[in-house]
Order: sequence, then C-alpha cells, then structure tokens
Amino acid sequence: MELKDIENFKNKFNSDLFFNIDIKKFNWFNIGGKSKIFFKPKNLLELKEFLKLYNNRGKMFILGMGSNVLFRDKIYEGVIIKLSKNFSSLSKLKSDTLIAGSACSQKKLSEYALENGISGFEFMYCIPGSVGGGLQMNSGCFGAEFKDKLMSLQCIDTNGNIKIIPSNKIKFKYRKIELNEDLIFLSATFKGELSNKNKIKNLMQELTTKKNNSQPLKIKTGGSTFKNPIDQTTKKAWELIKESVPEDINFGDACISKKHSNFFVNKNNASFDEMNSLIDFVKKNVKDKTGINIDLEIKIIE
Ligand SMILES: Cc1cc2nc3c(=O)[nH]c(=O)nc-3n(C[C@H](O)[C@H](O)[C@H](O)COP(=O)(O)OP(=O)(O)OC[C@H]3O[C@@H](n4cnc5c(N)ncnc54)[C@H](O)[C@@H]3O)c2cc1C
Repeated sequence: MELKDIENFKNKFNSDLFFNIDIKKFNWFNIGGKSKIFFKPKNLLELKEFLKLYNNRGKMFILGMGSNVLFRDKIYEGVIIKLSKNFSSLSKLKSDTLIAGSACSQKKLSEYALENGISGFEFMYCIPGSVGGGLQMNSGCFGAEFKDKLMSLQCIDTNGNIKIIPSNKIKFKYRKIELNEDLIFLSATFKGELSNKNKIKNLMQELTTKKNNSQPLKIKTGGSTFKNPIDQTTKKAWELIKESVPEDINFGDACISKKHSNFFVNKNNASFDEMNSLIDFVKKNVKDKTGINIDLEIKIIE
C-alpha cells in the first residue's frame, strides 16, 4: 500500500486502524512479529467501506481469538482484520434456533444455549475460540463439530458483498471447511434441540472436567498441533507423538506439554523458528518411526 493510500485510510477509519501492532498479544501461542495494518471495524458498514477501499490490494487475514494460529516473527505485510465486540451479539430466532455473531466466544454461545434450554452446544463450552474461528476450523470435541449445528452462514466477501450460505452448500471436512472464495464470516444461524437446563449444564460440566483432566490449562499453546490422521490409523496424533518423540524434547522455549503430547507450548519467550523446529522435528520423527504422515491442525500464517 502506498503512503498516500495509508493517509486516506487513516483519515477514514481513524481510531479503528492501527499500524505496526504487535501480533503476540493477539494469539494464544504469544508468538509473532508485527502487523503492518490492523483493522478493528466497529460495525458492518465500516467493514464494508474498508473492503471496498482496500480493493484486494494486498494480503488479508481474519483473526478470531488466535487460539489456532502461529504467526512468524516477521512483519505481516498486509492487513489483519479482527472483528470488534459489536460483531458478537447473540439472539434467538426460534425456540431451538440461535444466531451468533462471529466475534462471540464459543463459550458464550454455549452458555446462551443453556439459558434458553437448547442442547447440542455443550461441546463449544470447552473450545477457547470465537464462533468465526470455530466455523472456519469446523472445530469440535467429544464427537460433535460445528457442522452438526450450523444452518446458515452470513458473510461478506473481500469486495464487500454480503452473502448468506446455507450449510448444505458448504463442504465440511475434518477441522476445515471448503468454500470457493475468501469470506469473512459475520454471523451464523445454529439449530439445537430443546432440552432440560440441568441436563445441559451437567453435560457442560462433565465435558469440561474431561477436558481439564487430559489437556493443560493456562499455557501458551495452539491446542492440538496436528490433526488425527483418521485415514491412516485409528491412533490419535498424541499417541503417535508419544511413541515417537522424547517427551522432554525442546527447541529453546518451545516444548511439548507433559499432559498432552499434541499440545506444543511456549514456555516463556519462544520464537517462531523454535516452535517451527519442534513441529518439523515431531512430524519427521513420527513419519520415521511409524510411517504415518501427520498434518498440521494449527495454521501457520504467512
Ligand atoms: C487450549 C486449547 C484447546 C483447544 N481445544 C480445541 C478442541 O477441543 N477442539 C477444536 O476443534 N479446537 C480446539 N482448539 C483450537 C481452537 O480453539 C479452535 O480451532 C477455535 O475454533 C479457533 O477459533 P479462534 O477464534 O481462536 O480462531 P483463530 O485461531 O483466530 O483463527 C483460526 C482460523 O479461523 C479463521 N477465522 C477466524 N474468525 C473468522 C471469521 N470471522 N471469518 C472467517 N474466518 C475466520 C482465521 O482466519 C483462521 O484461518 C484449542 C485451542 C487451545 C489453545
């Protein structure tokens, strides 16, 4: 982007536009360099205007809560868009149907479903991301995934056109969805089942306890680093890692959680290179020892 363009953007979007901002504090790994431009639209109109003016001139990345992303230590030469809290509203469309803004946390959506006596959203209580991130990743746990609840997706394309996509037009895969174009998800409509509030609450607590017993809490991580290689073996990625890699392996401050071998941890001040070296080491060792290829679940942002 030219200097005169930057001035133009500054005048128009003023307090919602930031330059050379540290990316570290916006992701769970607490790793990364700076973003050349960081835009936090306060509403849909502003987002639309920004997209029209930006006009696909450079790279763009939509950041949710940063719980599944690993940034490089360099400058991100484009714009990172993070939807503001005005994109996190929750409402009830019908007795069993909810609409959630993309910036809303999955936990809040799950709590809102509980308040309304709607089951099916309990698993989201355990996932630390936003609704937008959950949709993009088709996130899930304990046998449930976003695809099971989604009815339609409201989004905007990079030219500023609003679209509504019914879920039957979306291809869902394991931890990803496939769409024909780059879209920013604005909100989504989900359908659950009417149920007893105590039953829903008990299930949320049960799943949380299960999760806390098997996964580390309050650490700098991106959750599961690798996907389970479901088409090659019934073994989970953590099992393959456990049997192939010494558990005390570390590259600088990047290491493997003692509680869950698929959770990689920034112990203190790990660099991207340290985390990436650990990733490469684990992938190679699993391949060498088991013959199985494991693919990344976390996204490395270029
Ligand atoms: C401790 C821990 C536990 C976890 N447990 C689980 C688990 O049980 N199950 C599971 O599936 N995952 C788990 N994860 C991974 C992660 O929380 C999920 O993938 C989550 O849904 C990502 O949401 P996010 O808002 O943080 O997305 P981000 O990490 O910010 O982004 C992830 C992807 O979503 C895209 N995205 C985000 N918002 C939008 C939007 N509005 N429009 C378009 N694209 C968007 C981004 O561009 C990116 O490609 C865990 C992570 C951690 C740190």
